[in-house]
Amino acid sequence: MAVSNEFWLRFWGVRGTVPCPGPDTLRYGGNTACLEVMCGGRRLIFDAGTGLRALGASMNGRDGLSAHVFLTHTHIDHIIGFPFFRPAYNPNNRFELWAGHMGGEPGALQAVLKGLMKAPIFPVPLDIMHACIAFHDFAAGMVIEVVPGVVLRTAALNHPNGATGYRIEHAGKAVCYVTDTEHREGELDATILELIRGAQIVIYDATYTEAEYPSYRGWGHSTWNEGVRLCQAAGAGCLIAFHHDPDHDDAALDRIAEQLGRALPGSRVAQEGLTLHP
Ligand SMILES: [Zn+2]
Ligand SMILES: [Zn+2]
Repeated sequence: MAVSNEFWLRFWGVRGTVPCPGPDTLRYGGNTACLEVMCGGRRLIFDAGTGLRALGASMNGRDGLSAHVFLTHTHIDHIIGFPFFRPAYNPNNRFELWAGHMGGEPGALQAVLKGLMKAPIFPVPLDIMHACIAFHDFAAGMVIEVVPGVVLRTAALNHPNGATGYRIEHAGKAVCYVTDTEHREGELDATILELIRGAQIVIYDATYTEAEYPSYRGWGHSTWNEGVRLCQAAGAGCLIAFHHDPDHDDAALDRIAEQLGRALPGSRVAQEGLTLHP
């Protein structure tokens, strides 16, 4: 069977830290991290923030769905949408969940999600999700061949409690998802440079502006300016600023979009519904 060359991505949640719905965030959106990638006929989902609820709703009760869900890590903003992902309650669906920030110890990811879906913070346990769910714990750095022709390279990021960056390769193109990572000032992160080398699209942790960053050193996040430096050094095509600070309203993100577009033409600020083809 020929592998489809289809390759596109859509943002369902672009925020970091905490959802921030409201009139000042309408255009870019207030949901936390969730990215859908259709690739070689497979659906890959990156992170399970509150954007995952809307992605699940878009699947519209269909039967026989399957997808791989890759988590960067299990901080609350990246998993809080999982209990509200309706397709996981349908016994005819199948999901493969992956996490690489806990060293690959078997059972680690399942234990975290069990802890999230547990009284008294959630009324029903994980077992009530009747879809067939497989858990894969791996050590960041591993190469995952999802199906022949769809390859994921992974790398450990610099973040409290760890996080995993991903490079999705298909049909001679590459998209990178690198969020929840902090740079070291004056030094380009060699691990990220290797991961994003020559990629068409790099989605990057742009939580802070350079003016804000000094107040948040050690919090595990980066700036769009650092993303531009990394893309330029790695010969990557364009940067998509992601994991927006909840205090960055639409007007603030418009200002970043303008500066970013000048710094690295073709680059964008992620917003809910944005669909891209590498
Ligand atoms: Zn986060
Ligand atoms: Zn985090």
